[in-house]
Parts: sequence; structure tokens; C-alpha cells
Amino acid sequence: MIEQAKQVLHTYFGYDSFRPGQDRMIESILDRKNALGIMPTGGGKSLCYQIPGLVSDGTALVISPLISLMRDQVDALNENGISATYINSTLTAAETRERLQGLREGRYKFIYAAPERFDSSSFFNAISDIDLSLIAFDEAHCISQWGHDFRPSYRTIVDTIRLLPNLPVLTALTATATDKVIQDITALLSIDPQHIVNTGFARDNLSFHVVKGADKHSFLTSFLKEKQDETGIIYTATRKEADQLTTWLNQQNASAVCYHAGLSEQDRNEAQRQFIYDEAKLIVATNAFGMGIDKSNVRFVIHYQLPMNMESYYQEAGRAGRDGEPADCYLLYSPQDSMLQKFLIEQSIANERKRNEEYEKLQQMINYCHSHSCLPRFILEYFEDHQMTSDCGHCSSCLDSREKTDRTREVQMILSTVKRMGERFGTGMTAKVLKGSRTKKLLETGLERVTTYGLMNQKTEKQITELIQLLIAEGYLALDGGQYPILRLTQDAVPVLKNEREVWLKSGFQLHQQQTDYDESLFEQLRQVRSQLAKEHAVPPYVIFSDATLREMAQHYPESEEEMRLIKGVGERKLDAYGTPFSEVIIDYVKEHGKNKNMVPLPEKTTMQKQPEVTGDPDLPSHLFSYELYQDGQSIGEIAKLRALTSQTIEKHLQKAFEEGYPLDFQNWFDEETEKMILTKRAEMEMPGLKSLKESLPEEVSYVQIKMVLVKNQLV
Ligand code: ADP
Ligand code: MG
Repeated sequence: MIEQAKQVLHTYFGYDSFRPGQDRMIESILDRKNALGIMPTGGGKSLCYQIPGLVSDGTALVISPLISLMRDQVDALNENGISATYINSTLTAAETRERLQGLREGRYKFIYAAPERFDSSSFFNAISDIDLSLIAFDEAHCISQWGHDFRPSYRTIVDTIRLLPNLPVLTALTATATDKVIQDITALLSIDPQHIVNTGFARDNLSFHVVKGADKHSFLTSFLKEKQDETGIIYTATRKEADQLTTWLNQQNASAVCYHAGLSEQDRNEAQRQFIYDEAKLIVATNAFGMGIDKSNVRFVIHYQLPMNMESYYQEAGRAGRDGEPADCYLLYSPQDSMLQKFLIEQSIANERKRNEEYEKLQQMINYCHSHSCLPRFILEYFEDHQMTSDCGHCSSCLDSREKTDRTREVQMILSTVKRMGERFGTGMTAKVLKGSRTKKLLETGLERVTTYGLMNQKTEKQITELIQLLIAEGYLALDGGQYPILRLTQDAVPVLKNEREVWLKSGFQLHQQQTDYDESLFEQLRQVRSQLAKEHAVPPYVIFSDATLREMAQHYPESEEEMRLIKGVGERKLDAYGTPFSEVIIDYVKEHGKNKNMVPLPEKTTMQKQPEVTGDPDLPSHLFSYELYQDGQSIGEIAKLRALTSQTIEKHLQKAFEEGYPLDFQNWFDEETEKMILTKRAEMEMPGLKSLKESLPEEVSYVQIKMVLVKNQLV
């Protein structure tokens, strides 16, 4: 029998081998044993019933809750020369009658129907009179009240179906099923445990990436440039964002259509059609898009904003690579997005218990973004699928080549602060205590008396916050309670506090994230140099330097030989052979256009190599060396220590770099409110010197803050 099935696989579908689990499912069904298949999206669940349906006599009935899917499936079968049809509410009465007649005449190998069809006795009667080969329940999790998408009508039809005099073998298929749902389905459909085929949730062909702190537009610009001919979905959290992003993409000459529930049905159908038929390469959509989209060649799914929970994330990301070919899933994370999601939860869910559940799920999603662990592993653990035994090796965590360093001492500071604060406060307040901040609320609560107060004052509040988030993601801390969650220690924290366990973490920036910003017009010029050289030497351009290498140059502007050497892909031989023509172009370019505002500091290896010398690159001005270290995530205090200079000097360095046009994130010094307060006060004063300003402002406003506000606003 299975030989026959293989033959069908080959002749009708053109495939040579079964995907994992397909053969076992097909065997059970052909053996007339009810069976349940749990396979990931794109795992090939349809063939599990289509092949037995073709091998057996009679008509197969496929029940699917998604009307939009039926049509696609029927079209696909017809394309393969198989007679199939569907009956659902989109048909006229006459069409329905005609198809029922065809069914009675045995004209179809497959008939697709929605659960609601069984409300009509004419349908039930027609079904009972024919030769049925099998009944398949697609998206079977909808049958179970424990499933995330329960449809009561789907459950009740099971009783009706059992009344069929010609009841055939039953099969159920789903991509998502917890143990509870599995139990429910198997009990309802009388499926023996030995006929459950569970291939797990893993999708080996998908590469997961989290991109943190990148400018999202620049990320898309360079990403889409690389993926020019490929098709992808970009998910946003709101309709407004979807609209805006579509407009922006089209301005960049990317062919993008938009899909969300705020558009008319006609517009939505048209957008979907253009996307399915590759007329539009990109679809920008809210979570309203995707149910029932079977497009197999989606090469990437980008979440432009943080999704609400892992369930929807994995489902949406899973729409990439259904054809089994490699595909990418990117999540662009920025902390504001979690605020947005909290707001959306607060707006949409009235029931407090449910709301808190959603907050917790959201927190898991945030943990995912901060985690240093293998990302698919993190996802599968979330779904309690423990089949993955080793790291995937191709997600952004696995590819992150930064060295881990011993951070035990800092981690202990944080953990003991949480403990000393009585496990009653959130991330923000804990960071403030460690920083030694003097905000009103902190002083009112008396938190400046916590013994670890100010212990990490050499770090910025942002850096402390990030470290806390990392500790949550890595399981040393947990967040409890709804909208304003509080930190508590976990089991894993205890040995760290007792000095029984070390904590090694990756630090600094991830290199590949920086590659998103590069100077495009310089890149173009470098490409021209390359093609000219290629012609002269009669070699293909990529033999000289790869695109990635040119992009790095267009990012770091290496002018000297030393700097050139630090670019990835520039070895000694190539430096000798080709270095000069490229650096000459760069020198001229910088003279004429200056450096791009988005310029990123030289890659980490620069500072890593130079750190021991402390003085840095002899060609690099001292203030820029401080600036580099600062951009690299070191605090002013750390840099001062490293360079044996005072903090004030380092601040002056940063100020100078800023004045020369290097970008600086002032949030580390002051928030908007403080800035406004200082500027207002200054405007009120006749002689606004630094000292008099300091005296007229509240005590908690520091000299440095005032100074930096003036620097930012070019008032010094
Ligand atoms: P799902 O499990 O999500 O329902 P589908 O049944 O829609 O997945 O199949 C996803 C894609 O995989 C389809 O394009 C299908 O043709 C293809 N496919 C299914 N089985 C195989 C196979 N054995 N070999 C190659 N491709 C397959
Ligand atoms: Mg399917």
C-alpha cells in the first residue's frame, strides 16, 4: 500500500520522498485506523489525507474551518488533475445544489466543507448516501475548548458525524496542540495513542533573528536591497503603522501592498491577490492577515514591532518557508513597542485575570528578545516541546560571536538589590536605586537607604536596565503581576548570591546589527572602483572584495592602512593589492561629503584589540577614542578608569565628538522633562551661567545634566 502511496506522491504531486511523519500518518489511515497528526505549519499535513484519499475508492470529506483556505486547496488539487470541490456559504443555492448532485454521482475525489454545512440536512443526506473514503478534520485544534481558537460548531459536528451509516476512518491534523488539546481530540475522535504522529514544532529551515536597537528604516533599506527578488511579509502592531510603512516602502521603490482590518474587503482581497501572484513582493499587514494563506515561497517574515505573544509570533513567523527552503524570521525590537503592546492589552481586555495572563505572555515575548539562548530552542521550550537536543546554529543568538565575560559581580549587585528592596519593585526603580538616582519618588519611598544604593553609579540607567532585562531573559529574575510587574528572585539566583555560581554574559554590541547603517552613496562609489579593478585584473568583482566588505567600508570609512586592516574581508594580500584605490576614494569622499550622521564606530574588534594600549589608535584623536568606547556600551566611569582620565575629561570628549557631528544619545544623562525644566529656567534668567542655573534648579538636577542639556541645544 505504501508503495502505491509513494507512486501517487510522485505522479500527482511530483515529490520523491515523504516529509517526516507523512508516511506514518498515511499508513494508519490506509489501515483504517483513526489518526492524529501534529506537524508544524508547512509540514505537509494536506498530503496526509490527500494521498490516502487518492489511493482509496470513494470520496474524501475534508472539514476545514477556514473558508478562504478551501478554495486554494481545491484549486491546487484541480491543478494536479484531481477532481475536487468545496461547498460553503460563498456559493449560491443553485451552485450548492449542483455540487451536491455531483457528489451523489461520485464526480469528486475530494469535497471540502465548513463545519456549519452539517446544519443542513440536505448535506448530511448527500454524504450518507455516498461511498466515503475518509473524513479529515483540518485545523483540528479548533475542535478543542482548550485550543487557542475554539469553534463550538466544530465540536458539535462530531456527534452528528457519528450518526453517519457509512462512517469511514477519521483523521485530524493540526500545527498547534498542547497535551490537553491532544487528549481532547483523541477522546472525541476515538484515536488510539499509537496512532498519534507528533513531529514537534521545530522548523529547521527557518532562521530566527532578533534585531535590537537598530534604526528600523535603515534596517529595512539594507535588508530589502539584499533580498530584492524575494517575497516577504512585514507585520506591524497597528493599522496606522501598517499604512505608514507601506507608504514609506513604496517611496523607496519597493513594491508593497497593505492589509489590515480597517481596509474594505475589496482592497484586502486585491492586496492578497497581488501578493499571492507575486505582483507585489511585500505585504505589510497587521495580524488580520495570514489565516488561510498557503503561499509557499515566502522567503522572510519581519515583525516590525513586537508581537503580543509567542503563540501569534510563531504562527506568523511560520508563514515563511512553507516550501521547506531556507527562510528568515526577523523581529525588530525596541522597548517602546512593549509599552504599545501593554497599552493594547489594557484597551482590549476588560477581565482582569485574562489581562494579567496576557501581560505574562507579553513578558515572555520580551524575554525572547533579550535572551542570549538559541532562539528556536527558547520558542520550543515555551511550547513545552523538548525534542531539540542541540542549538540550531543559525539564529541570531547562535551566530552572535561576542565573547562571554564574567559578570558575576554586577549580577550579584542587581540580585541583592532586588532582595533588599523586598521584591516589591519593578525594573525601573531597581535600576534607579543601583544608579543612585535622586528622583522624588525614590526619595519619598526611602529607597536611598537601601545598602546597595548607588553601587552601579558608573553605569547609565539604561545599561543597568538592559542588564536586568537580560537577567530576566536568562531566568535569574522573574517579573510578576500585571501591568506594573515587580521583580523577584528565582531559584537560579540563589547560588549566584551565595557565590556558588558564576554568571558569564555577552557584552557590547552585536556586530551584524551595525551593518544595517552604511553610507549608500559611498558604497556605490566603492562598487565602481571594484568593477574597474575587476576589469583591469580580468577577475569577477567579488574576487576583489565582497559586497559585505564594501558595505563595512561604507560604514566605517577606513582611511588609513591600519583602519583598512580592521575591515572584515581585507587580508594582508588584498590590502597590498587593492587597499590604496579604495582608501583614496574614501578620503576624497569624506573630504567632500563628511561622514554620515549614522556613522557607527569601528567594529568591536578595534576596541577589543586596542584596549590594552589604553591610548588607542595613534591616528585616532583622543576624544574619538573615548567616543568609540562609549558607543561600545562602556560607561563614562569605566572609560575614565580604563584611560586613567577623569570622568569630566571623558564628558568633554563626548561633548567634542558631538560638536563635530557624531551622534550622541542624551537619554543617558537626562529625560525630556528635565531638559524642558532646565531650558525653561534658563530662558527666565538674565545671566544664565552654569553656577546660577544650578542654584536656581532643584537639587537633584546635576551639573552634568545642565551641561549636557546646553551641549545638546548648542547653548555653550
Ligand atoms: P501544512 O502542514 O501547513 O498544511 P501543506 O500541506 O500546505 O502544509 O504543505 C506545505 C507545502 O509543502 C506545500 O507546498 C506542499 O506541496 C509541500 N509538500 C508537502 N509534502 C511534501 C513532500 N513530501 N515533499 C516536498 N514538498 C511537500
Ligand atoms: Mg494545512
